[in-house]
Amino acid sequence: MKKISLSLLLAFGVCWTASAQKAQVLPIIAKEYDALVALYKDLHQNPELSFQEKETSRKLASELKKLGYEVSERVGGYGLVAVLRNGEGKTVLVRADMDALPILEETNLEYASKVFGKNDEGQPVPAMHGCGHDVHMTVLVGTAKVLAATRKDWKGTVVLVAQPAEERGSGAKAMLKEGLYTKFPKPDYALALHTNASMPAGSVGLCSEYALANVDMVDIWVYGEGGHGAYPHLTKDPIVLASQLVLAMQTIVSRETNPIEPAVLTVGAFHSGTKHNVIPNEAHLQLTLRSYSMDVRNNMIAQIKRICDGMAQAAGLPADKYPKVVVNEGEALPSLYNDPTLTADLRQLFTKLLGEKHTLKSPPVLGAEDFGLFGRDEQHKVPICLYWLGTINETHYQEFVKGERKLPSLHSSKYAPQISPTLETGIRTMSEAVLMLLSRQ
Ligand SMILES: [Zn+2]
Ligand SMILES: [Zn+2]
Repeated sequence: MKKISLSLLLAFGVCWTASAQKAQVLPIIAKEYDALVALYKDLHQNPELSFQEKETSRKLASELKKLGYEVSERVGGYGLVAVLRNGEGKTVLVRADMDALPILEETNLEYASKVFGKNDEGQPVPAMHGCGHDVHMTVLVGTAKVLAATRKDWKGTVVLVAQPAEERGSGAKAMLKEGLYTKFPKPDYALALHTNASMPAGSVGLCSEYALANVDMVDIWVYGEGGHGAYPHLTKDPIVLASQLVLAMQTIVSRETNPIEPAVLTVGAFHSGTKHNVIPNEAHLQLTLRSYSMDVRNNMIAQIKRICDGMAQAAGLPADKYPKVVVNEGEALPSLYNDPTLTADLRQLFTKLLGEKHTLKSPPVLGAEDFGLFGRDEQHKVPICLYWLGTINETHYQEFVKGERKLPSLHSSKYAPQISPTLETGIRTMSEAVLMLLSRQ
């Protein structure tokens, strides 16, 4: 047995009896560990951007086929579905995402990415796994190995999903639309994990109920009547109106939303005009909205429309020149709701496996993750849980806690997950979670 395997076994040895499963997970992880680290480094060095995950998907397909999974490729773009049927029982789905980000990596790791992908215009852009999706994929393959090696100890069906284009909010939607829940066994439970850039490696974090937010992108075209900057009384200035709108819309969160309910309205872009002395014909605002409940989300959109109409009327514009508000439904994402019972069961299991110190309570955040859709599919209400996986070197984490170090966030060019014990913690918790759910009647 190799050195890493021994230390891994020793590190977790005291907890061996904690698992309720017959299957012995740790020796399998230890045996496969070097191959999994090699896979991780390969994925890290060869990132592919959203909608371009061709080679990544091919590599995962080949790993999963070798293990005896029935693999279907090209499910919603480069999406992959791998099924292992093992008699009557529960169906458990595990999802990992595959895409990287257009970031020039600055980690100085010997396995840092040096590759380029293409942006939507076909221009070369650097690519990096800055969101840890390479960790997610390695955990998926590690979990696949554990489940294949222990199939005599469980019954049921495992569905492993490698999803494309998470960073564009499109991959989950595309896979569900292509029949993920109708052409393949429909899960009784769906699980995912996500790397966390401020939690120590060896730990996991869970957040019950709403964990990540509804996301909406809104465009507002503000119209006016342009003219000479020296004769404003002969124009209707869209820059002044758009500026008033930016301020007036701040009251949607501060005065029109129940303060107990989280909401964010950010105007991220304001475009208008070409020259100092020309009043333009229009202005363009781009907003992002965040919320948890659909009532808050729908109310924010209704108030934006009301304020736009009212302010345009106050500016003296005719009704046909009121601002046009476009909610980009294609890019909208629902909030991620972790099923409370499932989350509580996972917390209990992980506490047994890792101890209380390493099973953290994570606060809800207003970021987004399209895994929420796996539980929000209208016809198929599936209990889901996405939990956080710590990835930070323990010393760096302690310095961070003392305020002596800043930690690069997810999507930073300097984000570098510590391989061990991140991978084994991810594979161990995910495998044990699946085995626990499969053991149910
Ligand atoms: Zn991300
Ligand atoms: Zn991510």
